[in-house]
Parts: sequence; C-alpha cells; structure tokens
Amino acid sequence: MCEAPRPPCAAAGDAAAADVDVVTTGGRRRIPAHSSVLAMASPVLASILERRLKKDRESGKAGRSVVRIRGVTDAAAAAFLRLLYAGRCGDGEEEEDMEKHAVQVLALAHAYQVPWLKRACEGAIGARLTADSVVDVLQLAALCDAPRLHLRCARLLAKEFPAVERTEAWRFLQENDPWQELQLLQGLHEADMRRRRWRRKRAEQRVYVELSEAMDCLDHICTEGCTEVGPAGRAPAATPCARYATTCRGLQLLIRHFSQCHRKSCARCQRMWQLLRLHSALCDRPDTCNTPLCRRFKEKEQEKAAAMKAGDDGDKWGLLVKKVKAARVFSSLANRKPQMSSTSQC
Ligand SMILES: [Zn+2]
Ligand SMILES: [Zn+2]
Ligand SMILES: [Zn+2]
Repeated sequence: MCEAPRPPCAAAGDAAAADVDVVTTGGRRRIPAHSSVLAMASPVLASILERRLKKDRESGKAGRSVVRIRGVTDAAAAAFLRLLYAGRCGDGEEEEDMEKHAVQVLALAHAYQVPWLKRACEGAIGARLTADSVVDVLQLAALCDAPRLHLRCARLLAKEFPAVERTEAWRFLQENDPWQELQLLQGLHEADMRRRRWRRKRAEQRVYVELSEAMDCLDHICTEGCTEVGPAGRAPAATPCARYATTCRGLQLLIRHFSQCHRKSCARCQRMWQLLRLHSALCDRPDTCNTPLCRRFKEKEQEKAAAMKAGDDGDKWGLLVKKVKAARVFSSLANRKPQMSSTSQC
C-alpha cells in the first residue's frame, strides 16, 4: 500500500476553513479545498497556489482563490483530490477511485509531482494489464515517465506478443506510428538476445562446475581411492564419498574403461585424456602428485608455453583452464560453510 505523509485532518469538498476552489475542466465542478493540504501534497500545486494567492491578495479579490485541474474528467479530478487528502491508497473509497480512474490519476500524479500516488497508479494499472491494453499503457508509461509500468508492459509484450499482434491497438500503431512499432520490436529483440546470452552463459557455467567437480573427484580417487578404484598399490576406501552418485561413480567407470580399452579412437578415452590434461594444468604439486600422467602433461604444457608467444589470445585451452579454476574457487567457497559445520566428525 502506497502512503504519503498524512495531511491535516480534512477532506476535499469540506467547505469549512477551505481557502481555495479547485475547478475542473470546463468549470463544471468546483471543489472547496485547503491550500495547506494541497501545497503539502504536491510541489507543483504549492508553487501554483503561492502565485495565485499572492495575485489575489494584491488585486484585493474577494472570495476563495481558484486552482484549475485540466485535461481529465471531473470525476478523475475529484478522485485525485480525494487521494491527495487521504495520503494513501488503502481500501474503501480510495481503492474504488484507483480502480476507476488510475490512468487519469497517473497523468495528474506525474504532472503535479506526487511520487507515492504515481507508484500506486503504476501498480494498479500494471495489475490489470492485458494483451488488449498493453500498447496504450506503454505509450502512457512513456508519456508519464513511469519506468515500473514500462517494465511490466515490456514483460507482458515479450510473453504474449502473438496475442498483442492481433489487437486493434497494435494494428493502429502499425498504421500510424511505425517508429514506435520499430522501437518496440527492437526492445523485444534485445530482450530475447539478453535471455539467450544469459541461458548460454548459465549452460557454460554448469559445464565448468561439472569439470571442477570431476577434478576434485579425480584428486580424491588418486589419493584416498573410493569403493572400486584407488591409488596404485593401495586399497581404495570402502565407504563411498558424498559425491559418489553424482560424479565419483561415473569417473570411476571412466577410469576403469580407460585402463582396459585398446581402441585407437575412442570418445570415452579421449574424454579421460582431457580430464587428466586438465588436472595437470590445475595441479600445483606435480612432483608428489599421484594422478597418472600429471607430471608428463605438465612438462609438455611447459614446453608448449615456452614455444608460444606470451599472452596468446587464441589459446582456448588456457581459457578453459582459467574458467574451471574460477569455478573450483567458487565451489570451494560455497562448500566451506557445510565443511566447517561438519568438522566435529573429523
Ligand atoms: Zn568417491
Ligand atoms: Zn576407450
Ligand atoms: Zn597432479
């Protein structure tokens, strides 16, 4: 519920102590009001009232000063005043006012600089947004500088574009405002590209995390061993590790296949070679490391690095190593908390 600082206890239309008349378009309605309440609610009304009251005082005009609210229906202007007096959009009459006149009240709240009322109107209009109304509301949001409402419209447009395309409002826009149509289509295209980029990045990140977990399991298999596979000359630990079902078992099967396979070209063996090479690139203790081929790969990489120019951007392998290293750091930080809580078991 949006709320403003509460004005003094008074109501729009209450003639007692009223010192201004708010006149609606065409002068059909004249609503008695209090300049102090209006000035407190809106800086624009405060400035208008200051000038008006000063002018009327100087000219010696009798009676209440007049402030005009133009461009909206009488009912909407009256609702605007009621909401300014209430200082909030709760239930009852204020809720009814918002339901009936939110669009016009938004325009007034923008023109008279009443931020809390503007937010409330954005919420009320956004809650009733449909494929039929979204094009008109988008234009309203642009005219009233209402970013929250614009965002809701953009989301609905992206979600229900086929339905929006069939509406009368969209056809009208196509015929009369091709620039606006182009702008909306560009916005949709950019949002779609952003979504695709985000999905691709997430998928990549998942692969790096999986590789990082595989590296941890390879370390663990080659140092402690796990159920069926262990370091050379030692029996593996009999109890399965915490990652047995997700990563460790698959890696053990791959290692066993690698040790038995004699095919020249085998995708599974190729994968194992890549994992061993990745381990070697990440390993900082090749002299004492138990992982097969760690030292050999390290020496080969060092020879290759010496032959290459430093900082070659085309080194995709180097980039992969960096990404997996970063993923390892992140997962070790993420795992630190549960590890700390289980230190009592060690
Ligand atoms: Zn394990
Ligand atoms: Zn194989
Ligand atoms: Zn190693």
